Amino acid sequence: MTDETLEETYKLIEKYHNKYLKEKGVRLPKLKDNNGRYTKDALVLVKLAENYPNTKIISKQELTSFVRKYYPDVSDVQQARHLGMQRGWNIVSGTRGDNGEKVPSGSYKLIDLENSYPAFAPKRRVGFDTDDFEQIKKEYGYKCVSCGTKEGEEHFFRKGVIVKLQKGHMNPSKPLVAGNIIPQCQICNRADRNRWIYDKTGRVIEVAETSDGVRIVKAFLQKASNKVKWEIFLFLKNLLR
Ligand SMILES: [Zn+2]
Repeated sequence: MTDETLEETYKLIEKYHNKYLKEKGVRLPKLKDNNGRYTKDALVLVKLAENYPNTKIISKQELTSFVRKYYPDVSDVQQARHLGMQRGWNIVSGTRGDNGEKVPSGSYKLIDLENSYPAFAPKRRVGFDTDDFEQIKKEYGYKCVSCGTKEGEEHFFRKGVIVKLQKGHMNPSKPLVAGNIIPQCQICNRADRNRWIYDKTGRVIEVAETSDGVRIVKAFLQKASNKVKWEIFLFLKNLLR
């Protein structure tokens, strides 16, 4: 396959993806990575979609030797299975097609570019944009977003403490209303209260604009090495100029 055919096939896939698959939650792999190389996912998808809609059964060995032209060190191409089962492309293996032809396991066939993989259910968005705390806890699997301990169970690090989830702030400068609530256990909610701004996955993303926030950063800097202190000093001097 020439690069030209490869890119034309990718464009065709992109067209079908926009029309049918995007809304089903199937994601289109990028054609090229940041270094301008074709991605392995795109190569495998293009190979499976060759001569679409007259696609063929393609063995893993064929896929591997195709990808090897671009990635000589590749030994075992797993992309076809991932693209199907996990990413939702209608790529089957070890099954009988509509026309009765058998796709052996370890070989793959792209059935079409209009339907998603039969068992594919896209990951649901976390429904954190509510003030129904039961709903929020359910979305997070009844776990503290910071330490992962489960409600009603003993805390990982505090023996004897039974976890009770509380409404934590994503941003402590804002009210505890829909869109600003994350579930935290009583330990994590207390320790970090008012210091940080979190994203919905519980990761710290900013210092809160509170006295606790300012104090914790000062405390960190006080403990830092002189090298770090100088770097921060020069950074701030530049920033505030
Ligand atoms: Zn916790």
